[in-house]
Amino acid sequence: MIVRKHDVIILGAGLAGLRAAVEIARKNPQADIAVVSKVQLMRAHSVCAEGGTAACMQPENGDSIELHAWDTVRGADFLCDQDVAMRFVTEIPDEIRLLEHWGIPWSRRPDGHINQRPFGGHSFDRATFAADKTGFFEMQTLYDTLQKHSNVKRYDECYVHSILIKDNTFSGIAAWDMTSGEFFVMQGKALIIATGGACRMYGFTTYSLTATGDGIAMAYRAGLPLKDLEFIQFHPTGLVPSGILITEAARGEGGYLFNSNGERFMEKYAASKMELAPRDIISRAEMTEIESGRGYDEPTGLDYVHLDLRHLGADKINERLPLIREVAMRFDFIDPIFAPIPVRPAAHYTMGGIHTNLDGATPVEGIWVAGEAACVSLHGANRLGSNSTAECLVWGKITGDNAARYVSQRKSYIDPPGEATREAESSIFKRFNSAGTENAYAIRNELHKTMDTKAGVFRAEPDLEDALRKIRELKQRLPHAKVADSGHIYNTDLINIFEIENLLELSEVVVAGALARKESRGAHARRDYKGRDDINWLKHTLAYRTPDGPRLEYIPVAITMWNPVERKY
Ligand SMILES: Cc1cc2nc3c(=O)[nH]c(=O)nc-3n(C[C@H](O)[C@H](O)[C@H](O)COP(=O)(O)OP(=O)(O)OC[C@H]3O[C@@H](n4cnc5c(N)ncnc54)[C@H](O)[C@@H]3O)c2cc1C
Repeated sequence: MIVRKHDVIILGAGLAGLRAAVEIARKNPQADIAVVSKVQLMRAHSVCAEGGTAACMQPENGDSIELHAWDTVRGADFLCDQDVAMRFVTEIPDEIRLLEHWGIPWSRRPDGHINQRPFGGHSFDRATFAADKTGFFEMQTLYDTLQKHSNVKRYDECYVHSILIKDNTFSGIAAWDMTSGEFFVMQGKALIIATGGACRMYGFTTYSLTATGDGIAMAYRAGLPLKDLEFIQFHPTGLVPSGILITEAARGEGGYLFNSNGERFMEKYAASKMELAPRDIISRAEMTEIESGRGYDEPTGLDYVHLDLRHLGADKINERLPLIREVAMRFDFIDPIFAPIPVRPAAHYTMGGIHTNLDGATPVEGIWVAGEAACVSLHGANRLGSNSTAECLVWGKITGDNAARYVSQRKSYIDPPGEATREAESSIFKRFNSAGTENAYAIRNELHKTMDTKAGVFRAEPDLEDALRKIRELKQRLPHAKVADSGHIYNTDLINIFEIENLLELSEVVVAGALARKESRGAHARRDYKGRDDINWLKHTLAYRTPDGPRLEYIPVAITMWNPVERKY
């Protein structure tokens, strides 16, 4: 078996992974760092981030870090750990300045200062942006910066299958090099998981095809608890019918939402914030309008409302929202300068993830998590737009810093457990011989339909129970899936099956957590339990894997500054 060794392994090369890699390389030039990604570096999902990165950059004009923290806590429907929010808002302004020093082309105000635009749920214009291609420029800047450091080795197009742990200490990962077809083990002293979110369990989603929650599922299988996974964010403006994101910046720049009666319906739901209310509120408003017959019909059932940018004018659309115009024209043959865009809520963000503490550390020694794969408890029950890329930067830095110090003290590697390694290898290669009777893609379609219709914006017990039954049936069927491609190199057929396996595992946790949580909070809206219930449910869900499905436990929320109040906009 091929065995490789690196001091620190960074699993994932999106914004969080790259920021962590840069931090370790700067802090500890002796550290030998591996960055592993199942796709080419600039194909990470982070390049899709469009609208901006939140930070308090203008205290002289009335913003403050406390206000940013308060907006985040209130937006999260009080399920956010407030010590986490304070750390976040304190550290993000320096990250924006660092990226500036590393060369990012932030959009500017006329006086040359970094510009900031409004975003939903923020009470100050604090989304720093680079037109509507913010994630792309952030990734490119970090990638450029990483080139200065010679102690980083990249493993692109390597699919990591499992995390190997011995005596509650990290020992390595098991991976499959798609380019050569080789299975290998990579031993390390420290691991940072930065594998992104899991919303590809839904059919109508803004996500890249590759964002399949692999790292979260791997950690869960390795015994790590997952936190608050039932909280899935639905973005109000998924382009119909593809689901491609129309950034919130389109409303930040002044776009309006209309129903089929021509009414700006947000007036009924959030009169003071209108189209810039938090996403959970707007998504529920859109679905209520559509379910009440005030949407537009779409042949496949993806009924929609209109996002209208026409009044912004061609110059503003071209300067601030060029990608949105291009996407609408290419995918819907609609030019937003002249016509409204059809939109509806699309699965967009995994608020939960692998349970970590304030430092991004997991209960296993030597393993940290950063970015969307983590649940450090910043976003609680509903993330505010532009707080995610910001989280990737802040906890990329924090976890990188901690891992750099850890490996400078820890001298030896731990041999990976033989049984787990053999199991990982055989679970890859035994599949090649499968003369399966099931079609994995049909299973994936059934999963998508189940999640879209039974665990979407609104939820209720009978639907969630149906969903759980269906997911368990699909889990039984997937091992019988036929692998049509028997080659070892670039066998995307097999990789797809691993990804579907991961999505099924995580869907079960989403639905079990949603079924158990008998209240409505943030993005988790139960038709049968309408109000927020702080007495019984102001707590985080932890899910542990067992052979019979997730075992749920609960831990308290850190309330350090603000007691929960009614959330009104
Ligand atoms: C369309 C869109 C627009 C968005 N716009 C914004 C925005 O404007 N502002 C904002 O704050 N947030 C935005 N978000 C959210 C934000 O982009 C993401 O939360 C963030 O980029 C996630 O970054 P990450 O580093 O955690 O993971 P990712 O960027 O998803 O990177 C994951 C990495 O892990 C690797 N990986 C995964 N599984 C494996 C495996 N099995 N083996 C090996 N490697 C693996 C991948 O190859 C990749 O390199 C947007 C989201 C979407 C969907």
